[in-house]
Amino acid sequence: MPDLMQTMVSQSLEKRKAKRLQSSLAAADTPALPRSLWAGMLRGSLGACPRCGTARLFSRFLKPFRQCPQCGQDWTHQKADDLPAFVAIFLTGFLVLPLVIGLVLHADLSLLAILGIVVSAMLVLLVGTLQPVKGAIIALQWWFGMHGFQKERHLAPPDEAAP
Ligand SMILES: [Zn+2]
Repeated sequence: MPDLMQTMVSQSLEKRKAKRLQSSLAAADTPALPRSLWAGMLRGSLGACPRCGTARLFSRFLKPFRQCPQCGQDWTHQKADDLPAFVAIFLTGFLVLPLVIGLVLHADLSLLAILGIVVSAMLVLLVGTLQPVKGAIIALQWWFGMHGFQKERHLAPPDEAAP
C-alpha cells in the first residue's frame, strides 16, 4: 500500500514538472504580447513593436519596418494612411489653443511675435506627435486584426487562468 501511494505521488510530481516545462517552452516561443489594446498602443506610440515590445517599429521617421527583427511580425499590412496626420493636427490645435489665448490676453507682444511663437509651437508639436500617433494607430490595427493582421491575445499562464 505505501508503494502505491509513493507511485501516485511521484506520477503527480512528474505530471506537474511536464506541465511546467510545457508552459515555459510555450512562453519562450511566443513574444510578450501586450495585455490590452492600451498597452499595445503605448508600445507603438513609444516607437516599439506593439507585438513584442522590444524591437523598434520604425525604420525611418514614418516608415515601419517590413518585418519586426525580433518577433518576425509582418508590418506591411498596416494602412494608417492619412489618419496619423489628422490626429496630429487635432492634437496640435488642442494643445496650442491655450498658448494662443494666454499670449493674446496676458503677453505684451506684437502680433508678429505671437504669430512666430504660435507657428513654431505648432510645427514642433506636429512633428513631435506624428510618429507616436502613427505607432499607436498601427498597434490598434494589429490588435483588432485589421487589413490582414492576425489577431493575437496575451494568454495567461495555466496557474493564473485557473479560477
Ligand atoms: Zn516585434
